Amino acid sequence: MKVWVNGALYDPEQARVSVFDHGILVGDGVFETVKSVRGEAFALTRHLDRLAASAAGLGLPAPDLDAIRRGTLDVLAASPRWELGRIRITYTSGPGPLGSDRGDQGTTAVVAATEQTPFPSAGDVTVVPWPRNERGALSGLKTISYGDNAKALAYAHERGGGEAIFGNLAGNLCEGTGSNVFLVRDGRLITPPLSSGCLAGITRALVLEWYGGDEEDVPLEAIYQADEAFLTSTTRDVQSIRAVDGTVLPTAPGPVTREAMEAFAKRSAEIVDP
Ligand code: PMP
Repeated sequence: MKVWVNGALYDPEQARVSVFDHGILVGDGVFETVKSVRGEAFALTRHLDRLAASAAGLGLPAPDLDAIRRGTLDVLAASPRWELGRIRITYTSGPGPLGSDRGDQGTTAVVAATEQTPFPSAGDVTVVPWPRNERGALSGLKTISYGDNAKALAYAHERGGGEAIFGNLAGNLCEGTGSNVFLVRDGRLITPPLSSGCLAGITRALVLEWYGGDEEDVPLEAIYQADEAFLTSTTRDVQSIRAVDGTVLPTAPGPVTREAMEAFAKRSAEIVDP
């Protein structure tokens, strides 16, 4: 296995970034998680485009997407051909001062990969008491400032949840720590709009394109009353929600979830870079 740092491949023990990297100091960076299936990156172009959009939103210099794409392919080529792999692309403002001002020594880009254990096809979720800030400066950006997600996921795990669910400041349903959420109500498939503060999930977008569904705000409480619900993410694809804070939903996976799962599995097997 190799790790790619700023254009060169290293053994994992030799790969280094500065302890003054502003990503480490203040979380000043953006990232992507890309899945690989039997050695091939899925939806890499969409992930690179989102990396660039997050970097622009954070005010970082534009990342060299061609170099990062090559780095990703080189890391995959140097890895075992896992059935399912997880590629992590991290891009930061580079070494900087100890405060929030940015440095001028150039950006840091890292690509690393590990094997990924598939998620179970159904899981429980825990609603957390802290809102997503849909009006915040980083709303909708995939920055490496994931402390709130780490805290929320630990809170969910302590209560038996496999994922944490956030509402937003308006009291509406938003997303998970690393996933988007869909509900079935009265036969309609609904997911919160991007204005809810959720990340523009690539799996979310592909489910909407390949299967359908409406983007609509619903109160956070609607998740407890859903006929069916599921999560989407790069590493999960479509994962049915069995229970929310101990409220067991009527079916998991229900008929709509099952169709969405099948549509996603079929189309994603046909197109590597949709
Ligand atoms: N929301 C958040 C906060 C995430 O970190 C992720 C994972 N990238 C998602 C949603 C799901 O997005 P995707 O389908 O692109 O993995």
